[in-house]
Amino acid sequence: MSTPNPTPSRPVGGHAIVYGGSMAGLVAAGVLSRLFERVTLVERDRFEDGPQPRKGVPQGMHIHGLLTRGMNILGDVFPGFREDLEAAGAQCLDMTGDHAWYMSGLWRPRLQSGVYLHAQSRPLLEWVTRKRLLALPNVRLLEGREVTGFLTSADHSRVTGLQVRAPGGGEEQTLEGELVVDASGRGSRTPQWLEALGYPRVEETRIHVDVVYSSRLVRMPPGFKPGWKMLNIAPELPRQRRLGTLVNIEGDRWLISMCGWLGDHPTLDDAGYLEFARSLGDPYLHDVLRHTEPLSPITVFRFSHNQRRHYERMPRFPEGLALVGDASCSFNPVYGQGMTTAALQAWLLGECLRQGQGGAAQRHRQRVGQLLEVPWSLATSGDLRFPEVEGRRAPTSGLLNWLGDRIHRLASHDEEALRVFVRVMHMLESPTVLFSPRMVLKALTARPDAAALKRRPEPISVPQSRAA
Ligand SMILES: Cc1cc2nc3c(=O)[nH]c(=O)nc-3n(C[C@H](O)[C@H](O)[C@H](O)COP(=O)(O)OP(=O)(O)OC[C@H]3O[C@@H](n4cnc5c(N)ncnc54)[C@H](O)[C@@H]3O)c2cc1C
Repeated sequence: MSTPNPTPSRPVGGHAIVYGGSMAGLVAAGVLSRLFERVTLVERDRFEDGPQPRKGVPQGMHIHGLLTRGMNILGDVFPGFREDLEAAGAQCLDMTGDHAWYMSGLWRPRLQSGVYLHAQSRPLLEWVTRKRLLALPNVRLLEGREVTGFLTSADHSRVTGLQVRAPGGGEEQTLEGELVVDASGRGSRTPQWLEALGYPRVEETRIHVDVVYSSRLVRMPPGFKPGWKMLNIAPELPRQRRLGTLVNIEGDRWLISMCGWLGDHPTLDDAGYLEFARSLGDPYLHDVLRHTEPLSPITVFRFSHNQRRHYERMPRFPEGLALVGDASCSFNPVYGQGMTTAALQAWLLGECLRQGQGGAAQRHRQRVGQLLEVPWSLATSGDLRFPEVEGRRAPTSGLLNWLGDRIHRLASHDEEALRVFVRVMHMLESPTVLFSPRMVLKALTARPDAAALKRRPEPISVPQSRAA
């Protein structure tokens, strides 16, 4: 799907406005810069000239891996993006070659998959993207401005612009444009604003998971050469509910994020943090962590629920409006799909506009509805494994979970299954390929051999003076 969006010979419109200057808004504005004479990006925060955390993105201190599909779209929208990001220090990690990965009770084989995860701090990713966007001659940034409502045609059938003001008060300004894109994140006020204009309230599905992230920057001891750049201890749901990931990011630093479902989290002191790492499915992360030097306090983020707004189901929806990113759907972040799904929604917007501005808003919301089916079901089917999590379960969910567990286990010892698994995970293939007759047969019959059962990452060896 992410073939390059060609630039049409004539712009499809004069002025597009995107609000929310985080990943979804930056990619959307990049897509629209090829289609409109000018694009204005409105953001409530003021940006620093550098990779700094900011108030509007409180999740920014936690691990943010960019999947291959997301990187492909960013590279289409901003040619040379990958090179820029890597030059700024991001690590390009082969998903299985550079990854010590414990899943389904086994350490997965290490092989070159050709599927890459880009690892960097979230502020770095956003800064590099923002620089690329703001270098475009037809893009203007309006920062330190909060959007407070829509301007519409007299009959409210079309959104024609936005009301903006300084955060917390100040004089209202208006901005007019032929297209308005809401990229303001999961706190988006579009449901309320449309309702106030006489539209029905958008249906919303919430699945409460209370996933708590706790993250910290660390430095490895000198001479530490583990042979991997990412370490992941995944839980067997629902028997286990704790996850730990450690990844090499820019500046010779490592970022660790550990999290638990249903409110489970470590105490926020060194001893509690280490103890949580020890309690994961395998103690290897703990063994590594005790040799590291903390570079930051432990930061916490509480993700209460998956949230999907079904704009595709609304019987009426105004022209001139589109939503991208968490504003339409925000998933449990442990599956790492948020930014890639946001980029896909922005890319789809370009596709819909290329067919003409008339009806583009309707086409986009329908196609986004279809697009979200897979990432939504991937995220929520895992969460719904916990009996405590409320939500609708398909009558076949028990059987699918049973088979899914076997396929996960197969991917932990069978190279072919592992390659397919990472392609699905990076949104390069549909999950149906995991359920092909060949894969299912193998999942039901193949058993890990002795080498797979014994496989472990190299023991930690650091100079004696640093060992605890
Ligand atoms: C702990 C955690 C870890 C994650 N890890 C990953 C990962 O590994 N990989 C991945 O792909 N995704 C991950 N995600 C998801 C990812 O952060 C989001 O999906 C992604 O940032 C896209 O969000 P967004 O741009 O739609 O919204 P947000 O990032 O929430 O940004 C919204 C923006 O809108 C601005 N804004 C809000 N209201 C207004 C207004 N009224 N006017 C003007 N501006 C406004 C805000 O200041 C902000 O800049 C993670 C999320 C969390 C919580």
